[in-house]
Amino acid sequence: GGGGAAGGGGGSVLSSSSNGQARRFALSPSSSLDIRKGDITAWFVDGASDTIVNAANERMLGGGGVDGAIHRVAGPELHAACLKVPEVLPGVRCPTGQARITPAFKLPVAYVIHTVGPVYDVHDQPENYLSSAFRNCLKLAKENNVKYIAFPAISCGVYGYPLKEASKIAISVVKEFSNDFKEVHFVLFSDDAYNAWIESANELL
Ligand code: ADP
Repeated sequence: GGGGAAGGGGGSVLSSSSNGQARRFALSPSSSLDIRKGDITAWFVDGASDTIVNAANERMLGGGGVDGAIHRVAGPELHAACLKVPEVLPGVRCPTGQARITPAFKLPVAYVIHTVGPVYDVHDQPENYLSSAFRNCLKLAKENNVKYIAFPAISCGVYGYPLKEASKIAISVVKEFSNDFKEVHFVLFSDDAYNAWIESANELL
């Protein structure tokens, strides 16, 4: 069972990026998992190291969904910063399951961590790629002394990952980092995603 309702608690973001639905679960005595509905481009807590995760594609030059929203709010400097990330294969800056960090420019956070989730019907054993994507984001955040980090539902849009399966993987990987962050947030756009994440948190935490 998880912790109690979070109400609006936390930073000032919580009124602007959330429609009021939010729950908080304890990961450890000093770390919590926060699940809320909202727009991740409006999310921040207060520290200089706040980080949002982008569900990018391997080119890392923008796209639809949350990627498009993040680039629109961050401004053209984000595109320029992504262009500077070296290609590891022609056209590939971030292979599926890996993560890259850039500044966040006009977003109200310090960093964007770009990761690429699997396409559910294309990649073999998509669960391995999805868990790697979450794990590599959290490793990179930890290396950069990030204390507050927010994830969207990676792969659950155009990439077609079923919400319940994705939420179990996401929360299981966050549990591996129970002592490393003050708060890990999931900022979810739809009721269906929010409900899946709450259900999995109740099962796993
Ligand atoms: P992917 O290609 O990894 O599937 P998408 O951007 O298509 O990525 O979708 C990932 C998830 O992000 C979906 O659940 C979608 O509803 C959600 N999403 C879209 N825009 C936003 C936003 N501004 N804030 C948070 N989540 C968003």
